[in-house]
Amino acid sequence: MSLLEVKNLKKSFDENVVLKDISLSVDKGEVLCIIGPSGSGKSTLLRCITRLDHEDSGKIDFDGTFGLVFQDFNLFPHHNVLKNITNAPIKVQKRDKAEVLSTARDLLKKMGLEDKEEAYPHELSGGQQQRVSIARALAMNPDILFFDEPTSALDPELTSEILVVIRNLAAEHMTMVIVTHEMSFARNVADKIIFMDDGYIIEEGTPEEVFSSDNTRMKEFLGKFY
Ligand code: ADP
Ligand code: MG
Repeated sequence: MSLLEVKNLKKSFDENVVLKDISLSVDKGEVLCIIGPSGSGKSTLLRCITRLDHEDSGKIDFDGTFGLVFQDFNLFPHHNVLKNITNAPIKVQKRDKAEVLSTARDLLKKMGLEDKEEAYPHELSGGQQQRVSIARALAMNPDILFFDEPTSALDPELTSEILVVIRNLAAEHMTMVIVTHEMSFARNVADKIIFMDDGYIIEEGTPEEVFSSDNTRMKEFLGKFY
């Protein structure tokens, strides 16, 4: 049984048809990586699935909780780390405050940030901010965690720090959908890879299948990384 199912999704911004006919599914415990050139519709797809945007037609079947991690962290600058993590579980999910606090502290420990709960976002490195953002997403007890280019704003050292965190979540069988330009990471961590180009899914399969594809657009895209 799929946890998430997307069928024939279409989305335009005025004349610009951004998602042309997208169908995909994600099973429980699966890691799906979405790759593809800039402007191919990857963020729009995530935004439609997570209801930040609305599709023109098609169907999205998912009735769980999701967590979202963005490229530029999106932490609340005027809240400290602990409040960034606990705010939504307490205010939106109406969960017990003591339970949420204890969950948040466990997550901070897991992210190696147990000494940072009082810190404000601007006092943290990009890698630390992104780890807070991952802890914040996990505090919602999500069924699926969505990442939109989680390392694109980070330099290489901080990038690998975040990729390790995501790899550990995969080892714990967290269901994840990850838009990334980190090709070797996608190859190693993904159960399934989707290559998007110009609003279409051009290739879909295991990393082995997708990375050995004969498709011209796919090879052109991969050629830019190797
Ligand atoms: P990707 O994440 O693959 O780089 P995006 O989904 O961000 O691609 O963008 C795909 C296309 O949709 C681009 O042409 C972009 O300009 C357009 N687009 C995205 N969001 C909006 C928006 N809110 N309004 C108008 N056009 C948008
Ligand atoms: Mg994008």
